[in-house]
Amino acid sequence: MAGQFKAAINQLNKVSQIMGLECDELEILRKPDRIIEVSLPVLMDNGRMKVFTGFRVQYNNTRGPYKGGIRFHPKVNLDEVTTLAFWMTIKCAVADIPYGGGKGGIAVDAKTLSQGELERLTRAYARGFANFIGPKIDIPAPDVGTTPQIMAWLMDEYSHIKGENTPAVVTGKPIEVGGSLGRDTATGLGGFYVFEEVLNKLKMAKSKAGIAVQGFGNVGMNFAMIAYRAGYKVAAVSDSRGGIYNEKGLSMEEILAHKKSTGSVVDFKNSKNITNEKLLELPVEVLVPSALENVINEKNAGRIKAKMILELANGPTTEEAEVKLSKKAVLIVPDVLANSGGVIASYFEWVQNSRQYYWEQARMDDRLKDKVTSAFKKVWQTMEARGNNQMRDAAYIVAVERLIGSLRIRGI
Ligand code: GLU
Repeated sequence: MAGQFKAAINQLNKVSQIMGLECDELEILRKPDRIIEVSLPVLMDNGRMKVFTGFRVQYNNTRGPYKGGIRFHPKVNLDEVTTLAFWMTIKCAVADIPYGGGKGGIAVDAKTLSQGELERLTRAYARGFANFIGPKIDIPAPDVGTTPQIMAWLMDEYSHIKGENTPAVVTGKPIEVGGSLGRDTATGLGGFYVFEEVLNKLKMAKSKAGIAVQGFGNVGMNFAMIAYRAGYKVAAVSDSRGGIYNEKGLSMEEILAHKKSTGSVVDFKNSKNITNEKLLELPVEVLVPSALENVINEKNAGRIKAKMILELANGPTTEEAEVKLSKKAVLIVPDVLANSGGVIASYFEWVQNSRQYYWEQARMDDRLKDKVTSAFKKVWQTMEARGNNQMRDAAYIVAVERLIGSLRIRGI
């Protein structure tokens, strides 16, 4: 068992100890059900063939079909995909939606591919995994580096192979091909609902809650925009090229236009350019890591000044950093709750595809709010009952109880 996955399982072990749980079912949760690795030959624009490696880890399907995104990123590896698939299992259980957990990925920098190469790579992935995925088996979705267009190609290729139109095989599709209104903003919006619930519990005034958001992809950008429009002060944002900071707050609408025209948030007027590392150490109340794993770690934990970390990325805080920060009374709102809005909206999309009946945006947003809020309440109560500030432990207790409960009733 390698690094990242080992740390993820440590969290499971920690929580099972807290729960006084030692049972055979737990052993099932410590390992993925199935790991699939497929070679994907792709014809490149220069006429040469390049062989990529595609992964899909089907972690657990006790509570429903495997569910989770596909990541296109140069650093993708099997350890990471397995970890992300485990986290999806926990996340879907916390959200109480009828799914297990899975994840897929390809080690590729999608930005270096032409549109045609990207499409051929995606279709190769769909062919490679067509026998392992399906609306009742395993349902992929977007993650870092993948988009609604990529989901449309996956759905199209899969539908051709199976000989029937199958929109429910992936979620996060464009509206034109069975996507759901509100899916694109759902992770940010769900995170915002959780954020407001936490502020309410902490009795932290809106005017006091200055925010720094790391990552300006689908998740970070939407969260920053929603918070800004709701009247919060977003003091810093960043993307892979760097960040910008103005302690008085930034105009998200202007930044979005700036990013559209220049390709990055950096060099925005009336703000100071900062590094991604510096952003995490700013004197703000709320830190919202929305990009990749392990950015808050042993090295920088001591310099973090925020009182709350809202984890919209998966796994942004390492185990060691979490210990240090909790001692300083920093509240960490864990990924498996904070970013669950994405997969909850995916669930709604899948329900609509299966029924071929589509909802209006308001219904989608209301149901998202209901689902996220009840998950939050359950986790918060569990944490309060234990009398500490360990929200991740509480979320895992909720998830493990549900998973073990289902495993026991089904029988091994
Ligand atoms: N990739 C997202 C996540 O990590 C969404 C997964 C999904 O919608 O299946 O939660």
